[in-house]
Formats: sequence, C-alpha cells, structure tokens
Amino acid sequence: MTSIAFIGLGNMGGPMAGNLVKAGHMVSAFDLAQTSKDAAAELGVGIAGSAKEAVAEADIVITMLPAGKHVLSVWADILSSVKPGALLIDSSTIDVESARKAHALAAERGCLSLDAPVSGGVGGAKGATLTFMVGGANDAFALGEPILKAMGRRIVHCGDAGNGQAAKICNNMILGISMIGVSEAFVLAEKLGLSHQALFDVASTSSGQCWSLTTYCPVPGPVPTSPANNEYKPGFASALMLKDLKLSQEAAQAAGASTPLGAAAAQLYGIHNAWGEGGADFSAIIHLLRGRNLS
Ligand code: NAD
Repeated sequence: MTSIAFIGLGNMGGPMAGNLVKAGHMVSAFDLAQTSKDAAAELGVGIAGSAKEAVAEADIVITMLPAGKHVLSVWADILSSVKPGALLIDSSTIDVESARKAHALAAERGCLSLDAPVSGGVGGAKGATLTFMVGGANDAFALGEPILKAMGRRIVHCGDAGNGQAAKICNNMILGISMIGVSEAFVLAEKLGLSHQALFDVASTSSGQCWSLTTYCPVPGPVPTSPANNEYKPGFASALMLKDLKLSQEAAQAAGASTPLGAAAAQLYGIHNAWGEGGADFSAIIHLLRGRNLS
C-alpha cells in the first residue's frame, strides 16, 4: 500500500483516484469543486481540507487539472508541504513548456517528477484501461510505473522531462487530422451516391483504415459503439480536441516544425467549437464539413 495524494477529481481524476483505492492504496485528495469531491468520496477516496493537507503524508502526488497554468500554480503551492523525495506525477494534458517548468520546480525541492498524460478518455479512466505517455528520469519512472498500472493498461516511457506531453500532442494531432480526413471521405461519398456502409466496408479493409474510421466512425451505422450512434455525445469532446490541437500548434511554432495539416485541423475545430458543437464528440466535425448542423 502506498500513500498517494490526488489533486483534481474531475471527469478523469475522480475515477482514476477511485481505481487507486480499489488497488489497495491510501488516497488523500482535493479539488476546488464540491461536486467533484462528493463524487470521489463515493468511490472511497479520502477528501482533505486543502491541497497542502492532502499531500503532507504522501509518497506520491498526482495532479489531473485542466491546463498548464493550473498545474504550475498547484505544484508551486504544494511543494513546500510535500515530503522531500516524494514523486510528483502530472497526468493533465498541458503544454510541453509548462510540463518542463513543473519538473524544474520539483527538482528544486529535491523531488522526483513525471509528466504522464493519458489517452483513453473517461471510459478508460473508469475502467483503468488508460494509456500513459510518460516523460522523466529512469528512477522516477521505475517508482511511478507500478502506481500508473493501477489506472491504466499501457505505460510507455517516452524519454526525458516533457516527452510524455510531446507524445500526447503528436498523437492527438494525428487523430484530429485523421478524423477530418475520414469525415471528408464520407461527405464526398454521400455526394457520389455511395452508401456509408459500402465506404466503410472498403476503407476499413483497405489503405484508408484508421482508428477514426474503425472505432470512432463519424456516421451512424457501421460501428455501433461510435458516438455517432449516440447523438454524438462524447466520448472525446470537440473542445478538448481543439485544446490539444492548439497545444500542438504552439509546440510546432516553438520548435520550428512545419505542420500545415495540424494548423488546418486546429482552424476547423476552432470553427466547429464556435458553431456551438464544442460539447459534442469530436467526430461531429462531419456536420461542419457537410455545411449543416444535422447528422
Ligand atoms: P475536468 O474539468 O472534469 O476536471 C478538472 C478538475 O480540476 C475539476 O474538478 C476542477 O474543479 C479541478 N481543479 C481546477 N483547478 C484546481 C485547483 N487549483 N485545485 C484543485 N482542483 C482544481 O477535466 P477532465 O476531463 O478531468 O480533464 C483533466 C485533464 O485530463 C485535462 O488536462 C484534459 O485535457 C485531460 N484529458 C481529458 C480527457 C477526457 O476525455 N476528459 C482525456 C484525456 C486527457
């Protein structure tokens, strides 16, 4: 049993903390929102009065927060209360620069740290089937891996500080671009009189095959479990895809990488969100491509 502090008990963090309890760890947690605290408490998570109180006895501290600014402010706040030598893990999706700043803050306090963003969404958080993409030193990874295994199925060490976030935004840039590509193909097929099922049967067994087609197919029918069959309820919300595409573009600009399709995808998801579909699954981008807000 390890003593773990968990800060940020939202849609992802709540069930992740619950899985740590299920695995037999002692979890002391904090969130600003009462609803998040109540939901986590129902999963057996111990709720502390503040973030500082939550981390005081912990050997491992995990944060799952909205963005880089939240992570940096929480880490700056808790570090004076964290046990020296504790391991800090941030699993939020944030920009690479903030992730590296967070690692530096931990090092100043003599703490080990990992950036460990996830893929797999709320379903993966609940089912403990997340994929963790991890950046940080080998000794920190060796310490963190068994804990991450209680919340996920695949734990990939991607290299040094910040490389977990780098892997996450590169992966999601592929995803955003591929969903637009698949959606465009269905829109063209509709205009050409080709049925959704016929295009799916061909492309899913041909060179057009990809996850956006075979798991998250953006039209109802061919993949019964895809959000398109459930009124495009997320799944993975378009607003979160836009966030990740913006992160990839900021990183591309800072690193001098040419990502014209990533830039186009960020622009299209920006319009999709401005249309009012930010809360819909990201596969609802097909509505924008059809030019009307109907399935
Ligand atoms: P969420 O908004 O549901 O939860 C965030 C929680 O952080 C909220 O409960 C909020 O009250 C809390 N919080 C904010 N500031 C805080 C502070 N200073 N101290 C304590 N608590 C604070 O978000 P989520 O869906 O759980 O996502 C969390 C992170 O995981 C994000 O970075 C997101 O991009 C990433 N992510 C989300 C998904 C998904 O499908 N939801 C998938 C992969 C990655």
